[in-house]
Amino acid sequence: MPSKNSSAAIAERYSVRCRYCGQKNSVKEDYKNGDAVCGRCRLPLSNAAHKKFADLSKHDYVHPADSKALAALRAIPGIDSALKKLLSVTGESAIRVTFMASAVKVTPKQCPDLHAKLQIACTTLGVDMPDFFIQQNPTVNAFTGGVEKPIIVMHSGLLERLNDEETLAVIAHEVGHIHAEHVLYLTAAQLLLAVATIPLATLPVAGIIKELLTASMRGALLAWMRRAELSCDRAALLVTQDPHVIGKTMMKLAGGTFAYKMDYDEFLGQAREFQKNYDEKKLDKFWADILNAGLSHPFPIWRV
Ligand SMILES: [Zn+2]
Ligand SMILES: [Zn+2]
Repeated sequence: MPSKNSSAAIAERYSVRCRYCGQKNSVKEDYKNGDAVCGRCRLPLSNAAHKKFADLSKHDYVHPADSKALAALRAIPGIDSALKKLLSVTGESAIRVTFMASAVKVTPKQCPDLHAKLQIACTTLGVDMPDFFIQQNPTVNAFTGGVEKPIIVMHSGLLERLNDEETLAVIAHEVGHIHAEHVLYLTAAQLLLAVATIPLATLPVAGIIKELLTASMRGALLAWMRRAELSCDRAALLVTQDPHVIGKTMMKLAGGTFAYKMDYDEFLGQAREFQKNYDEKKLDKFWADILNAGLSHPFPIWRV
């Protein structure tokens, strides 16, 4: 028979269902004061509701700059068939072989908390689970690629810098690319960037790109790519359901791991100042546009 003491000890713990992944967790009564996290997805426990958007249309959140640039891109005659042809040459299988060979595949048993976060992002946005790889790479980045069957890749350099909520935000951003039907264009744009940045110009693929894609196709593709990022930050917001998780992730992208010593409110002030100068000073706008045009992602300060 349980003694009075042990039944009191049992009464102090109770079960809380994780708002994100649905796992039941046994917690102490004062868990809200501590930093209790879910045993499955590692996200903070609270009894607040987490909304799911199973019938979400991309038009509900896609950034107007993304729709405008994508419409301009699609208006170029022959672009879709040119891209499909390009990617059939370079091949989805090449992408798959690359990551199966040189990255770690996330499964329910391999990095289960990351697998749970992917599942949270997919169920919240209503997307089929893609394959997900972690790759050792100091470049702070994550991306989505593929043609028929998308895959998500996250670099170790990014993963190491982020806490669990911020990691969810990045995964949700990538799932947003799948939901918003960006994957075909994104894969082509990444290929263009790879050819432009790594000394691949001698490889046959560089010649194929030149042959298949006109300069205006290439320009429109890269211009759209940066704008597409803004839509996916919004998709990430639909998953984290807290704008400051996204803002703090951007602060880490801008300031590195040193961000733990930085003041987030000051960073938000910096974003407002940047936008004010951009709107009011012609020269600031000129340089911001020139510098931004060379990037795969817009400035973190803009994304905030
Ligand atoms: Zn959970
Ligand atoms: Zn992105």
